[in-house]
Amino acid sequence: MNGLTDQKFIAALSELHAAGGGAMRLDIVFPDTALAMLDNPQPRDLQLMAGMHQILQQFDGAEAPTLCLLCDYEFSAKKTPRAFVLLTSTAPEFHRAMGNGLCGKCARKKAGLHERVVQYYRDHLFPDLRVL
Ligand SMILES: [Zn+2]
Repeated sequence: MNGLTDQKFIAALSELHAAGGGAMRLDIVFPDTALAMLDNPQPRDLQLMAGMHQILQQFDGAEAPTLCLLCDYEFSAKKTPRAFVLLTSTAPEFHRAMGNGLCGKCARKKAGLHERVVQYYRDHLFPDLRVL
């Protein structure tokens, strides 16, 4: 499963979506970006780092394989994502970041990556999704 088929994930994501009045922020974080966050971490950076940590924790003792958001690549404790897609609420009091991993193949093509991720969410979760 890539998380999007998990009912708990969908419920939590819907809660995040509603908390921002239907608006969410989408970040794609690569290792170099994550390391740069450590130089002078802002509250939002800590939120994104916690989200990445949460995604990585899924691989320890997972009952079902966790897949790349955009393909069928299976992550494990030894085969971790090359990048992270993180959704955060625009509501400042809502601190949780949620998301999925991207495999090396999917993360390698940075051109159009944001658009491919948005299209995936539009096709699978939010048919009326718009980018502001
Ligand atoms: Zn992939």
